[in-house]
Amino acid sequence: MHDLSAPIRATWTPSADADLAAKLYRKLVDARVLFLEIEVDGESVAGVAAAVSSNPAGPILTMVGRVGAVSAFVEKVPTAMAKRAELVLMPPHPDAQAIEELKKKASTVKLGLVSRPGGVDGLGACLALASATGVAGVVVSNPHAPASPLRQSDLEVAKAGWDGSGEDFKGQVHVHDLFLAELLGLDPFAGYTGCAAAKSLAHLNPQGILTACRTLPLELGDLKEEKLVDIWKSGKRVEVMGKLDKIPGECGGCHFEQSCRGGCPGLSDNLGRDKSCPGVHGSSGAGN
Ligand code: SF4
Repeated sequence: MHDLSAPIRATWTPSADADLAAKLYRKLVDARVLFLEIEVDGESVAGVAAAVSSNPAGPILTMVGRVGAVSAFVEKVPTAMAKRAELVLMPPHPDAQAIEELKKKASTVKLGLVSRPGGVDGLGACLALASATGVAGVVVSNPHAPASPLRQSDLEVAKAGWDGSGEDFKGQVHVHDLFLAELLGLDPFAGYTGCAAAKSLAHLNPQGILTACRTLPLELGDLKEEKLVDIWKSGKRVEVMGKLDKIPGECGGCHFEQSCRGGCPGLSDNLGRDKSCPGVHGSSGAGN
């Protein structure tokens, strides 16, 4: 099992406490996290912008949020720092003019949705706006815990939206949900080596607690009190990683067992098979 001294990638949902944001961001920088996705809102953005501005050599940033918060971040950090950041605009998506303004100020602008019930209804409109504005990509992210699988009605609406607008969009499309990606005709296993939670990925919640993933809130440690590298080498983290490395028994005999590895444990009961899975796939690759 490949091991690391810190997660390569982290996601962070900061609180409005600017002092806490500064302390936690400094620890992420010290541990040399390479990629950091920060979800900002109107309350947290000022503290995050101040923390980021005082550590210019930090991780490569992806800023996620509604247009108001993301635009505020861009205005508050040095121009060169904004230029290096990727921005993911969440619903309600802004109009084309606001997107054009942000494209001038950041390296990459994408439109985002979340794969939760009701969260992908706007996929067709999102893709149409992405085509019209020429943004770099559309991202369908994993949900926060407590997470529920997409319903059949969500899948049908998302597929109809994709069939209506998906082919017109020439940018990148990243769909974290394996089974939604499969339904849309994307290759869900391209570059996928299984769930990254507690292996190369961690999530930092508003209280400063480090968890395996925002979809799977298994606690790894308290970053307010400990260094990230110490949490990462702790027995607790290694134990969580070991549990997540096991392929659920229910997946035995599935054609995709070794690629899918049980899907998302955050969408399972007790780390069994992802409840979104339509069933074990036969040797032909077709679901049964
Ligand atoms: S638990 Fe793993 S598969 Fe599920 S959303 Fe997190 S990283 Fe992805």
